[in-house]
Amino acid sequence: MLESGCRRAQLSVAVGQADKLAAKVARDIEADVVRRGWPVGESLGSEQALQQRFRVSRSVLREAVRLVEHHQVARMRRGPGGGLLVCEPDAGPATRAVVIYLEYLGTTPGDLLNARRVLEPLAASLAAECIDEAGIARLRAVLRAEERWRPGLPAPRDEFHVALAERSKNPVLQLFVDVLIRLTARYARTARTDSASEAVEAVEHMHGDHCEIVAAVTAGDVARAKTLSDRHVERVTAWLQQHHPGGAGPGARAGRPRAPRVDPEAPRGKLAEGLAATIGDDIAASGWHVGSVFGTEAALLERYGVSRAVLREAVRLLEHHSIARMRRGPGGGLIVTTPQPQASIDTIALYLQYRKPSREDLRCIRDAIEIDNVARVVQRRTDPEVAAFLNTRSGIDHQAAGDAGRAAVEEFRFHVGLAHLAGNALLDLFLRIIVELFRRHWSSNTGRPPPTWDDVVAVDHAHLRILQAVAAGDDSLARYRLRRHLDAAASRWL
Ligand SMILES: [Zn+2]
Ligand SMILES: [Zn+2]
Repeated sequence: MLESGCRRAQLSVAVGQADKLAAKVARDIEADVVRRGWPVGESLGSEQALQQRFRVSRSVLREAVRLVEHHQVARMRRGPGGGLLVCEPDAGPATRAVVIYLEYLGTTPGDLLNARRVLEPLAASLAAECIDEAGIARLRAVLRAEERWRPGLPAPRDEFHVALAERSKNPVLQLFVDVLIRLTARYARTARTDSASEAVEAVEHMHGDHCEIVAAVTAGDVARAKTLSDRHVERVTAWLQQHHPGGAGPGARAGRPRAPRVDPEAPRGKLAEGLAATIGDDIAASGWHVGSVFGTEAALLERYGVSRAVLREAVRLLEHHSIARMRRGPGGGLIVTTPQPQASIDTIALYLQYRKPSREDLRCIRDAIEIDNVARVVQRRTDPEVAAFLNTRSGIDHQAAGDAGRAAVEEFRFHVGLAHLAGNALLDLFLRIIVELFRRHWSSNTGRPPPTWDDVVAVDHAHLRILQAVAAGDDSLARYRLRRHLDAAASRWL
């Protein structure tokens, strides 16, 4: 009895180690693809060759390949002339991972409004700067599709905002706006309208705003595009808040079982992918009770009508994103866990590496988020948490003099600290993604001179001056100083 318990424990440790090893091999394969410039269609080698190269068993390699396939970095083709082929990813898995994580956090409509008001006017103004004939045609096509809507038809998906963000030619901004629109759509689905005429009015109102924004973008009127976009986002959110029962976050909506959206004709990997997304949604819909059993394996097989192999693969993906894990034995089943942001950040950062954003793409979003953060921290300056942050900052640690590594950590701590204090889970996560992208870019860009002691002192001084403005409640000065600091530090850290 005791012995079999021991063996089971040893076995589960071994399984844990194999999973960790597989995750590491997957990361190495992905880093290799990034290093090679993401050569779509090229082979990374046969299963056997990869097994030899990474010195792992076939089962570990297969698990690593599953992860790489999940991230849409490469796909294994069996048979002669086969191998692990680099593929062209789409934003699907990255976006889903982030949406599910944010559902767990239970973002508020206020956070969503705030995030949309930071990013969408930026997208509109960038679109106005670089619009071309193809872009104008695309935006006008979206407007025509909106005009075809009639009462009784399902409400049009708010595709307009995603199409507009696409025209900004900034892949990071495009992805973030997509996430925000998906979250907004989740609210809209549960919104109640008192009458059909009210729904019509809402849709027409929306359409009128969209037409004006497109006109400003087409005319290249950057300032007007920005202002109109800001006003529109404000109106949409006001409408949602008015019509949303209780105004609770999407994570807090009532649980209701839904028909699984699994297409039985799809190949197994795709099936597992879809099933994992459905289970993730259902866990969020049922209120995300960490530690509870979401269902036994038998119950889940029955509920979703899939094979055991597909379910097990979906469970691996849920485990990878720490959404749920399978516990064997009596009282076991799929246990709801606490999601960690890192898996979402990694998935999204990897996808964005494929899209190759420029430094400027990252910088303009970071600046918009950080300047909004500092304004929010000024508003919250009497909050004990904020006050504590303001007080602990008392100049550089001279013990760390000359230690550029520690200075970089301090720089990170300051900016991530501000994001945390600003209190918007969405913008906080977006900023972490940007930091991760900078980090990946920086670490692959050797040859940059390390910061000098003068740089360290200048950065610390800038931080102190920002905090002084925050403590004084001087909103515009805090923004000014942060902006100056970001301009000066941009070429160095973050
Ligand atoms: Zn709209
Ligand atoms: Zn700084």
